[in-house]
Amino acid sequence: MKSEFEYFLDGKLNEECGVFGAYNIDEASQIVYYGLHSLQHRGQEGAGIASSDGENIITKKGEGLASEVFDSEKLSTLIGNMSVGHVRYSTSGGGGIENVQPLFIRAHTGNFVVAHNGNIVNTRELKMHLEAMGSIFHTTSDSEIIAHLIQREAGDFKEKILKALTKIEGAFSFIIMTKDSMYVIRDKNGFRPLAMGTLDNAYVFSSESSAFQIVGAKYLRDVEPAEVITLHKNNIEIDFYTDATQNKMCAMEYIYFSRPDTIINGLNVHTSRRRAGAILARECPVNADIVIGVPDSSLSSAMGYSDYSNIPCEMGLIKNRYVGRTFIKPNQMLRERGVMMKLSAMEAIVRDKNLILVDDSIVRGTTSRHIIKLLKNAGAKEIHVRITSSPIISPCFYGVDISNYDELISTKYNAKELADFIGADSLYFLSSEGMYEAMGKNICTACFTGKYPTSTFSLLDEIKNQK
Ligand code: SF4
Repeated sequence: MKSEFEYFLDGKLNEECGVFGAYNIDEASQIVYYGLHSLQHRGQEGAGIASSDGENIITKKGEGLASEVFDSEKLSTLIGNMSVGHVRYSTSGGGGIENVQPLFIRAHTGNFVVAHNGNIVNTRELKMHLEAMGSIFHTTSDSEIIAHLIQREAGDFKEKILKALTKIEGAFSFIIMTKDSMYVIRDKNGFRPLAMGTLDNAYVFSSESSAFQIVGAKYLRDVEPAEVITLHKNNIEIDFYTDATQNKMCAMEYIYFSRPDTIINGLNVHTSRRRAGAILARECPVNADIVIGVPDSSLSSAMGYSDYSNIPCEMGLIKNRYVGRTFIKPNQMLRERGVMMKLSAMEAIVRDKNLILVDDSIVRGTTSRHIIKLLKNAGAKEIHVRITSSPIISPCFYGVDISNYDELISTKYNAKELADFIGADSLYFLSSEGMYEAMGKNICTACFTGKYPTSTFSLLDEIKNQK
């Protein structure tokens, strides 16, 4: 579990990783490097790129940001027209260089690499079974499981992948690369996003479509739930590892994680956030002088609240871009003054004003309390908090670091009690109907409802029966 200090710095939820792949383009690793830059918000603990020239796979990786891990010299060693990259935030398996991806797997049938975004739910059962069968794990990352499962299956490499995928439960977008092929995979529930684009004669794949723009690629479509796209000898083949699919995109992608210029399930993230803000204004109007959003994720929603209410939208908070990567803990005095916060209040805007403060979610309440304190210290009068999601009451098993009930303040307090705790004059959470109206029906809302779209039962017996 995170410390209070880590929450103080991070402020918000974190997700596990982003992936980017490029197929059939000269200096593919350069494309992937820039793609990873655009996905950096999805993970800052480690970055890696693997590339293939058709004969050999070369992998380079390290801890830190993509710009810290790679320089032009390192990139120049990653030759070939096929490449896959990864940025890591560790919710499962912990940090450490051995867990930075892509994972390189040596196999007598041919080496391959795996890049994974998500969280495998039945990790423990699968690991126990695989170890009992003789598999030796080199990392503590759940992503290594797919590699061992593939190794144990019969058939050509694609058949092995298709069979292995049926044994994994949970959230996963994988890009797997051999020396001459790339396999792009999304789980059958569609939890984590994965988009496909084109760049001249090349195909590119990314956790977020927004990363295509930076490399000049064009968004084509989302990879579908259970879809396995095989790229081999400049051909593309489409398979589905199961037809038991559903489309349960993580609602947090719309609410918080993804960049506003990303498109998920055909819906632009900025548009869905703006809609959520307007619905909040309709569901819970309040008189105030200005609406302000917590940067960056709630700026679109604040616009939406303003659209509907006709209350002017203002910039009351400024994000301090570079405080997140300090490892020096603030002393008590600094903590109390809030100087290490990622945000600063704009006194010229908020002094003597009644505010509507739009934010995306409340996990532990500590960040909201800090923000409200900042605004009050800057002279704000009333602060009415409006949240663009429902209260978080359940953990996430699908790759977001909402790990247990104890850290979820909405399991302890109702909205009135929570308003008192964070120091707000009022607090309202978007209804679940409002969330569906803003984001569409094809979303996972398990952490808001406790109703999980997958069973978390062990697949061990099923696997044993197949062996
Ligand atoms: S439980 Fe919540 S955080 Fe996890 S995938 Fe579902 S909506 Fe996203």
